[in-house]
Amino acid sequence: MPIDATLAYDDSNIFAKILRDEIPAQRVYEDDFALAFHDINPQAPTHILVIPKGRYVSWDDFAASASADEIAGFVRAVGTVARDNGLVAPGYRLLANIGTDGHQEVPHLHVHLFGGRPLGPMLSRV
Ligand code: 5GP
Repeated sequence: MPIDATLAYDDSNIFAKILRDEIPAQRVYEDDFALAFHDINPQAPTHILVIPKGRYVSWDDFAASASADEIAGFVRAVGTVARDNGLVAPGYRLLANIGTDGHQEVPHLHVHLFGGRPLGPMLSRV
C-alpha cells in the first residue's frame, strides 16, 4: 500500500530496521551518510536501494531538513554505488517513489538504482 509521505517519520519502518541491523539485508555500500543494499524483489538484473541514514520520509523532507553534508553524502553515495556496480558505461536508471501517487511503500527516503539490461521507456502507460 502506498504511504502518505507527509506523515512524520516512523522508526518502525523496514529500512529503519535494516539500518539498525535488526533485519538482514544484502549490503553493498555504507558510509557515514548512506547505506545501499539489494532490493528483496529485484525488477532488473541490478536493483539496489540507496538510503540516507537520517530519518527522512521523502525527497522534499530531505531537501528541506537535511544538512549540506548529509545531502552531499547521499548524492555521492548513489554515484559511488553506480560506479562500483559497473553501471556507468552501460547506463542505469534512478527512481525515487514519493507518496501516494508515486506509489512509495516504505516511508524512509530511498533511491532505486536499476541496471543490467535495457530498461525501456520511462513510465508504464497504465
Ligand atoms: P517503494 O515502492 O517504496 O519505492 O519501494 C520499496 C522497495 O523496497 C520495493 O522495491 C521492495 O521490494 C523493497 N523492500 C521492501 N521490503 C524490503 C526488505 O525487507 N528488504 C529489502 N532488501 N528490500 C525491501
